[in-house]
Amino acid sequence: MSFTDKSLQCADCGVTFTFTAEEQEFHQSKGFTNEPRRCQSCRQARKSQRNSFGSGGSRYDRQMFPAVCAECGIDTQVPFEPREDRPVYCSSCYNKTKGNSRW
Ligand SMILES: [Zn+2]
Ligand SMILES: [Zn+2]
Repeated sequence: MSFTDKSLQCADCGVTFTFTAEEQEFHQSKGFTNEPRRCQSCRQARKSQRNSFGSGGSRYDRQMFPAVCAECGIDTQVPFEPREDRPVYCSSCYNKTKGNSRW
């Protein structure tokens, strides 16, 4: 099967872009059946967006609360609001506790 360059319209910005024969071939080799819906620059923009979300970005955006470790007394941060009726541990003490008492 041979491919020919195709003109497609970007679903995002409406620009007409070329879905080249090589890209079509690459596409098919990956098992994709749908034509790309976005031009190169919109695809790139989406990709970098997804990367900043996907590579742990949202994880580090999570709010951290300052706390004092109930075990060794060092200042630490926990991903939840510390409550007075619950001891808070730094990560190393938490791991120790977890290992000992099988929480
Ligand atoms: Zn576009
Ligand atoms: Zn500790």
